[in-house]
Amino acid sequence: MKTITVLGATGSIGDSTLDVVARNAERYRVYALSAHRNVDKLLALAARHRPEVISVSDPQAGAGLAARVREAGLECRVAVGPDEVVAVAATPGIDCVMAAIVGAAGLAPTLAAARNSRTVLLANKEAIVMAGRLFIQTCRQSQVALLPIDSEHNALFQCLPPPREGVAWAGSAGNGEGIRRLILTASGGPFRTTPIATLATVTPDQACAHPKWEMGRKISVDSATMMNKGLELIEAHYLFDMPAARLDVLIHPQSIVHSLVEYIDGSVLAQLGNPDMRVPIAHALGYPDRITSGASLLDLAAAGRLDFEAPDEDRFPCLHIARQALEAGEGAPCVLNGANEVAVSQFLCGAIGFSDIARVNDGVLQTMPPAGAPASLDEAMALDREARRLAMQQIERLSS
Ligand code: NDP
Repeated sequence: MKTITVLGATGSIGDSTLDVVARNAERYRVYALSAHRNVDKLLALAARHRPEVISVSDPQAGAGLAARVREAGLECRVAVGPDEVVAVAATPGIDCVMAAIVGAAGLAPTLAAARNSRTVLLANKEAIVMAGRLFIQTCRQSQVALLPIDSEHNALFQCLPPPREGVAWAGSAGNGEGIRRLILTASGGPFRTTPIATLATVTPDQACAHPKWEMGRKISVDSATMMNKGLELIEAHYLFDMPAARLDVLIHPQSIVHSLVEYIDGSVLAQLGNPDMRVPIAHALGYPDRITSGASLLDLAAAGRLDFEAPDEDRFPCLHIARQALEAGEGAPCVLNGANEVAVSQFLCGAIGFSDIARVNDGVLQTMPPAGAPASLDEAMALDREARRLAMQQIERLSS
């Protein structure tokens, strides 16, 4: 049996992961589950999956958790505070760590898993956007397999040539031969056809009502601005060692084709499936074997048609901004990520409008002095803090 730790177990990816794990109970034993504040849900998950450890990063939310564990008749150890989540992620020899904490908060635990576990299943794209080079180096040094969970990157991984024997798969496009372009598909989110003039007044609930995927609120807003696709371009650059010029985006509203690899001979390989995160999760969990995911099977005759169009950067300025950060390289992706997290959270709490998200991101990238690529966790977190400070400055300027 393989041991698995799920970081961000109470979120949307956590739900899908634990569902796949439960369907394949003869293969997996849950070692640890982590949450930030949602202690009620974490306890319910612990009762169902019987982990050895549960961990809560918010100290206030974690106060009294040990007593509740005893009352519930559970036998798991309780670890409270952000450092404890990192310590749980760093437990040596765990077979798989699902990195599914949202945002920059996931970087330290995800890096800890990359140093100590056997396989990292990467959902937390913000971690690789912040510190891509460092993250890939860490995986290589510790010979950890890095498997993408984002449906697009998982699709690319499935369509790329397999790695040459003996080469650890992290930061490379399989054996790297004959590839011309990687094409990431994007649904276009809830505002693909909304009149551009009305985007300034859309509400957080409208932005989170994704037509195809059920996800946490931060990634839902990122999908609505298409910053999500921008972050994914950066993620693909690091995961597959692919220059920006050979990474493209194609709008595909049905979300059935999850991404494509174009080869120099004109062949294009794509991975298809219904839009259900349990498909890429089951692929990565079982890899190299195939296991059941619980997702419904694709019926192409019922789907009828598959549409594709080029993205409109006037409608989605965040996509252009992210591409600029990718091309600038060095510390720019980390800065963009920090600014975007602030802008999205301020939009979600009603402090700024939807169209301001792009203004804040652009403003921070323009004002931040150039910084080198983070070479350590501390450097990444320092850059992130500075980007957040500048983002708050931009927001004050917008509202004055
Ligand atoms: P959710 O918001 O649904 O869940 C986030 C998880 O992270 C929760 O378990 C939450 O705990 C925990 N968390 C939040 N803040 C912190 C913190 N400061 N410290 C530690 N843990 C924290 O997000 P998703 O599951 O949608 O997304 C998770 C990651 O996966 C993101 O990086 C996203 O981009 C990526 N992803 C998600 C997809 C999806 O379909 N949802 C698809 C592809 C990628 P609590 O519940 O206690 O607050």
